[in-house]
Amino acid sequence: MRSLGKAGRILRNDVPHWTHDMRSPILCSMHEVGIMESALDAIRHQAAKHGATRVSRIVLRIGTLAGVDHDALRFAYEALSPGSLAAGAVLEIESVPARAHCAACATEFGVERGFIFKCPQCGEFSGDIRSGRELGIARLEFPDL
Ligand SMILES: [Zn+2]
Repeated sequence: MRSLGKAGRILRNDVPHWTHDMRSPILCSMHEVGIMESALDAIRHQAAKHGATRVSRIVLRIGTLAGVDHDALRFAYEALSPGSLAAGAVLEIESVPARAHCAACATEFGVERGFIFKCPQCGEFSGDIRSGRELGIARLEFPDL
């Protein structure tokens, strides 16, 4: 079952996404702290499940529509990780571009922000977002497994 490599065991796609709870926009700087607290909880849970004592790399996947400031998230990580099993781990943030789908002409197109998007192909409006709302752990590396 276990694939042992030099970089330790790499988990892919079996890490559950954590819930994105909507906090007050006023608590803007607290938003990323809450997200990072949830992430560290999820990482602790995964490490315990696999018998790992520390994590060496954390790859987060964040959609551009998720409303997460990457710098604030890194800051929250620096503030929260010392003393945890994630201390000293490399934090990578993968940005997922937002894309919407047009039902009228079956075109998928990139979008910037908002909820309703105009199809560049046929001009129809679509609220069918196919990517960009991601907020989760893409990958964890445990060096001692
Ligand atoms: Zn269209």
